[in-house]
Amino acid sequence: MTTFEIRGLRADVLISEEERREILKGVNLTIRSGETHAIMGPNGSGKSTLAYAIAGHPRYEITDGEVLLDGENVLEMSVDERARAGVFLAMQYPVEVPGVSMSNFLRSAVTAVRGEAPKLRAFSKELQEAMKGLSIDPSFAARGVNEGFSGGEKKRHEILQLELLKPKVAILDETDSGLDVDALKIVSEGINRAKEANDMGVMLITHYSRILNHVKPDFVHVFADGKIVESGGMDLAETLETEGYERFVKVGA
Ligand code: ADP
Ligand code: MG
Ligand code: MG
Repeated sequence: MTTFEIRGLRADVLISEEERREILKGVNLTIRSGETHAIMGPNGSGKSTLAYAIAGHPRYEITDGEVLLDGENVLEMSVDERARAGVFLAMQYPVEVPGVSMSNFLRSAVTAVRGEAPKLRAFSKELQEAMKGLSIDPSFAARGVNEGFSGGEKKRHEILQLELLKPKVAILDETDSGLDVDALKIVSEGINRAKEANDMGVMLITHYSRILNHVKPDFVHVFADGKIVESGGMDLAETLETEGYERFVKVGA
């Protein structure tokens, strides 16, 4: 049983040397093993900032609060330590690494997280199976990481990493954006497999409720102006879909 806790998290985005702006204004959220929490909210409310702040992105400075994984201070860990501890943040991985094949890249990532290199043969088999499950063409293993990948292919690659790294908690930021109906289904099934295989906790950041028809959330949270302003179940996501975020956005803000 794992508990991932975000307590009173505040963070600034560092815009320039003189300029900073507070984006996260006290985020509280607890995710336990096997739970899926959807974070929904209007554009610019700070959802990605939350993901980046947890990932330790240098552009963001935590000014207050804490993030704990089974009581361990995640914010004091290096990016590698966070991954080894079992926190998966898709965006901590390189966007594009020309010249490094996907299979080599993934094997290094798996080695870093597991603490030892998987046997080549066993890893190849594991990789092939995971790729097949995500309908990724076998030729991809030899291609440069994300090099010339389409939006949908990058998202599948993200879930491929998730399935191989077997984290305790995964933070997925708009994994559904730009996916067609078929790709959305494939990616969702990958997330569900990872959930079942590892009793993984998930923070699923999304604009739209459609992915939630495939990856069933236990909790839905509305994120507005840097914090969670309302929590509920799937019915809340449905309300947001029909009514929008209007009532959560300050008039004249
Ligand atoms: P969301 O993911 O909910 O759409 P973001 O976290 O991307 O929101 O952005 C929250 C706010 O922080 C926005 O107003 C955005 O313009 C601002 N912001 C984020 N990153 C930067 C940055 N690097 N420089 C300036 N402003 C930023
Ligand atoms: Mg956005
Ligand atoms: Mg965003």
